[in-house]
Amino acid sequence: VGKDIATPTRTREILEKYGFSFKKSLGQNFLIDTNILHNIVAAAELDKGKAALEIGPGIGALTEQLGRAAGRVVAVEIDQRLLPILAETLAPYENVEVVHGDVLELDLRALLADKLAGYEQVSVVANLPYYVTTPILMKLLEERLSLEHIVVMIQKEVADRIAAKPGTKDYGSLSVAAQFFAETEVAMVVPASVFIPRPNVDSAVIKLTIRKQPPVEVDDEALFFRVVRACFAQRRKTLLNNLMNGLFDKTQKDDVVRLLAELGIDPGRRGETLGIEEFARLANAIRRSNL
Ligand code: SAM
Repeated sequence: VGKDIATPTRTREILEKYGFSFKKSLGQNFLIDTNILHNIVAAAELDKGKAALEIGPGIGALTEQLGRAAGRVVAVEIDQRLLPILAETLAPYENVEVVHGDVLELDLRALLADKLAGYEQVSVVANLPYYVTTPILMKLLEERLSLEHIVVMIQKEVADRIAAKPGTKDYGSLSVAAQFFAETEVAMVVPASVFIPRPNVDSAVIKLTIRKQPPVEVDDEALFFRVVRACFAQRRKTLLNNLMNGLFDKTQKDDVVRLLAELGIDPGRRGETLGIEEFARLANAIRRSNL
């Protein structure tokens, strides 16, 4: 199958042929390094019995590698100008389909059921547009699509926050949310030189392995996430202060102090020191207490 798209020469050839100009507002930074692509695809553990969903194929650099590794690939691209380019670059790959649309607007569950029916193991593999990294990841996780892995290139700073452990400066509500739904791992750090144009931030590939079951028992997921967000609202305040500010009325302070004591959680701790298990116990206790 032809030469790789993701070389500097071939990429420039394609861009020139179509007179394509990058749109910064769409987070267009294309990969021009086949080694990085091979590593991303390897991290996704694909084979011909599995399928991949790509978000933002660009001119198809990663898409063609996915087409070679997976049984079937669906790639969602928002930029209409890329469609004729993709039609040409991906022509050799009959198992690849490009869908025009905004991934944040699409019904992904319906898309997977429609386009990847018959595949039990589907992974999201992408070099994400950085301006919408977090909304895309939260959509993929919260909709509980039955995915195997999410392997995506994102800003290194966001990758560090996703994989952060309690008590570290990067640990926050994004860490808890991601780790609630998945096992997280920074698979590799990537230099800016592998993209054109070069992004202004450092990049990394994060690998999320979706959990079949949450790591902790949570009675009310919406409340759990409200508690987590409240506890991180003001990082320099104590757990008690953040809980009081975010979730309770002044008159309930004694009850909240008592509840924390019963849980053996020091009210003077900072929210960022609580692990997922402690947040779960806290949220479950708040719910059962009818506070
Ligand atoms: N996969 C290509 C590569 O690695 O060379 C391109 C990656 S580029 C960082 C991000 C791609 O996502 C662009 O092609 C951009 O047009 C597309 N994109 C941006 N916002 C999108 C959205 N909301 N839905 C779908 N695609 C989007």
